[in-house]
Amino acid sequence: MIPLTAMVTGKGTVSFKIKGRYGRGSRPSSFTSILRPVVFWNITYKCNLKCKHCYINAGDPNLIRRELPVEKTIEIADQIIEQKIPLVVFTGGEPLVSEKFWRIAEYMVSRGYTRISVSTNGTVIDWETAQRLKRLGVRYVGISLDSLVPEKHDEFRGVKGAWEKSVEGMRNSVKAGLPTGLRVTVTRDNISEVPDMVDFAASLGLERVSIYLLDTTGRAANELELLPSPARLRGMIDRLIEKAIEYQDILEILLVRMNFAGIYIASRIAKSREEFLELLKIIGAQGDCGRKTISIYPDGTVRPCQFLESIVVGDLRRESLTDILSPDNPRLKPFFNVPERLRGERCSRCPFKHVCGGGSRNRALSATGDFWGDDPSCFFNPWEIAEKWGVNSGEIRSIIR
Ligand code: SF4
Ligand code: SF4
Repeated sequence: MIPLTAMVTGKGTVSFKIKGRYGRGSRPSSFTSILRPVVFWNITYKCNLKCKHCYINAGDPNLIRRELPVEKTIEIADQIIEQKIPLVVFTGGEPLVSEKFWRIAEYMVSRGYTRISVSTNGTVIDWETAQRLKRLGVRYVGISLDSLVPEKHDEFRGVKGAWEKSVEGMRNSVKAGLPTGLRVTVTRDNISEVPDMVDFAASLGLERVSIYLLDTTGRAANELELLPSPARLRGMIDRLIEKAIEYQDILEILLVRMNFAGIYIASRIAKSREEFLELLKIIGAQGDCGRKTISIYPDGTVRPCQFLESIVVGDLRRESLTDILSPDNPRLKPFFNVPERLRGERCSRCPFKHVCGGGSRNRALSATGDFWGDDPSCFFNPWEIAEKWGVNSGEIRSIIR
């Protein structure tokens, strides 16, 4: 995740409230660690929408998948609290259609654990639900929206009327006093709308816009052609730098599944070599799949993140959370040091690979047939940037925490 606004302006909204201040001129965030990652808890496979790009194939009637009984999830909640996990993001499927979400979240809060955030399609956040989330003390509500054109969003999400309900959910959430954000998955079909979506978010009183580059996994596994071209991606980042400055006191912009964009941004905005290296430190301190983030699935299996659905690094039906997070866990270990495993022509030789992490393994797999290959979305020449600032891979590696 790249905190675009913090990099460009040194400011932040939701992330500063949750993590404390970080960015230029202050320490890189040490909010998470390998033993204390952010946990994305996919609490259910159920969902009321049918999105084309769903990473977990939610609501697919052809898949028979078990979910843990609520008693077992309470045991997992106890482990999360004891492990002092810094943040749990409840997601799904759609967490708010599952009674299990309320049972677990209310239980955690009753034990004094309040580091809870919700990632939702927003369609079921009526006024009563928004107030219930507020009473629960939820730190952040992220609501997905894929277009400013209702018909386009509904077509992508597979349900007519979804757009109206999601936007109503945003309004209710803001009105209830919940820090609320918009999450958009960028494809070739909506990339031109993204800067306007930032304006829209600001007009609704949202505090964050999270911009996810499509990852080719789940229902999007064979949708490589839906990715925007690298040139259009670069154009979007240029516009978003302007938006980050324009809205710096109102909302923060985050970039997700495109850490490489952070290197381009650092090079565009730095005024000196020292500042460039400072900005690289911010990027290098971010987590990625399996490194400072993990995902618990509805059946109790654990994945490096919600984007690597096919890779299981543990099973909470049989193992403890502490054992799964151990640096000695051989299934998780490869994700602590992805840069050393990269073998694509570009990424394996890239001077910034220890900062960037090589982009998305799913996009690399879809484009090259090699899980450790090159991410096709990286849109700049890293050697030109290294030369511009007079840095080499050894120096860059040494600044990463
Ligand atoms: S992407 Fe989210 S909202 Fe869409 S089907 Fe999957 S879980 Fe539901
Ligand atoms: S070439 Fe690969 S490692 Fe280098 S910045 Fe691009 S995606 Fe990252």
